[in-house]
Amino acid sequence: MSKSIIYWFRQDLRLADNPALLHASQTGKRIIPIYIFDPNDRPIGMAASWWREQSLINLGAELKKIGANLNFYEGRPLEILQKLASFYDADEFVWSRQYDGYSVARDKEIKQTFSDKGIQCASFNASLLFEPWLIKNKSGSHFKVFSPFWRQCMAENQPDSPCPRPAELRGHPDIDPFQIPLPATPLDEDADLVTEEWTPGESGAYQQLEKFVEEGLAIYAEFRDFPDRLATSRLSPYLRWGEISPRQIWSKIQFVKSHESFSEKTVTKFLAEIGWREFSYHLIFHVPEMATQNLQPSFNDFPWEENEKALQLWKEGNTGYPLVDAGMRELRRTGYMHNRVRMITASFLIKHLMIDWRAGEKYFWDRLLDACPANNIAGWQWVAGSGADAAPFFRIFNPIIQGEKFDPNGSYTKRFIPELAHLEQKHLFSPWKSKSDRVELDFQEGQYPDPIVEHEYARNRALEAFQQIRR
Ligand SMILES: Cc1cc2nc3c(=O)[nH]c(=O)nc-3n(C[C@H](O)[C@H](O)[C@H](O)COP(=O)(O)OP(=O)(O)OC[C@H]3O[C@@H](n4cnc5c(N)ncnc54)[C@H](O)[C@@H]3O)c2cc1C
Repeated sequence: MSKSIIYWFRQDLRLADNPALLHASQTGKRIIPIYIFDPNDRPIGMAASWWREQSLINLGAELKKIGANLNFYEGRPLEILQKLASFYDADEFVWSRQYDGYSVARDKEIKQTFSDKGIQCASFNASLLFEPWLIKNKSGSHFKVFSPFWRQCMAENQPDSPCPRPAELRGHPDIDPFQIPLPATPLDEDADLVTEEWTPGESGAYQQLEKFVEEGLAIYAEFRDFPDRLATSRLSPYLRWGEISPRQIWSKIQFVKSHESFSEKTVTKFLAEIGWREFSYHLIFHVPEMATQNLQPSFNDFPWEENEKALQLWKEGNTGYPLVDAGMRELRRTGYMHNRVRMITASFLIKHLMIDWRAGEKYFWDRLLDACPANNIAGWQWVAGSGADAAPFFRIFNPIIQGEKFDPNGSYTKRFIPELAHLEQKHLFSPWKSKSDRVELDFQEGQYPDPIVEHEYARNRALEAFQQIRR
């Protein structure tokens, strides 16, 4: 009887442009597609768990159409793979690569263990345009600054074209006794807009890409910083879970660029953001410690404040700064936050409240649908100033001015803070300044909090703290 092959799905929950799956289908062996809930992996939050569940249901249905069932397991991957190899008489495991420290170490151990037993483990690139070890600076090392990194990427050959989805898989007729049912992961009532706003799954990803090309791409460069403009792609959760690949996005954008009249500026800007994602993975692969440690060691002496109460108010969206609070409420209700608002809310936690970026990173990780082992860490370290090519610490966002500039008619802020809906635009981002006009403005006392910290005071305090680590 011919041997079988085990396909381990991880962050590549799709059939198209999945070179590992295509390879598995081409071996002609019986294939067992699996997903493992690994208790040692960093636990994901409620919204991301919901997304993964929906995506796995979708993937299972698609796999069934072409001949194979998706099986679920829980436990240490090495042990589960050992049991499955023996039950199914498998001589090959296949997966798409991951790049964070935990996954790299785990996969290495698995490869080593099975190669000693004569079982092959084949891994493929499904989630990056360029493998992190292929992009090197002049001295042969990894990049620490984005622009030369991206220039170097662009100087390489074009990213590979996406590969086709397998037409058919030879499923296995046997059913092993180790399987578990797919765990249900309901959303709590705080996350009331998640299902309304999102459609997980591979077909949801293509629809989102089409929508972006039709409605967002042309205005991307001009309006990507405006949270109410829907000018960005909102592809991040799909990229996070691998329902779409950057190669597919790249190839679609190249296609529309050559057939439709998009400006070079808007296309280049959008592709550069895909480039920032590549850069985050490049960094986390080469410096896995950055997941928990400052990339710039000078920040190890930063005098962070322990302030549970302020942290809680920030999480709830009750800091008294409307744009910050709108962002935090968007996150809780939708599982997403616009990029500019991520920068502002993160900056507020780190610089106005002087709370360690790791506390913010953890909260985003717990709440974001797109919570990403590379982008979230890199984003937080970028805002803190402790990361690679980061924003300088002394550049401190003024949450009032940011609101006035990037939510100029207040519709984003008012959507998430309806208690401010009656305010005129001139008062919206500093409602406390209108105290004397409150009656006139119909501002209900107690409905929306006063600022938990005064901006100028907070700014000076942060700059002084920064001076301490520069000395
Ligand atoms: C504090 C902080 C935390 C963040 N955490 C995450 C996270 O957990 N997961 C995540 O995917 N992104 C994260 N980002 C990056 C960025 O905010 C999101 O990728 C973006 O808002 C997603 O929306 P979009 O798909 O509409 O982006 P678009 O503007 O349409 O960009 C297209 C794609 O490019 C990538 N991208 C865009 N901006 C960035 C960026 N600054 N850094 C890296 N990649 C980028 C994303 O994959 C995105 O889907 C974080 C940024 C900050 C400042």
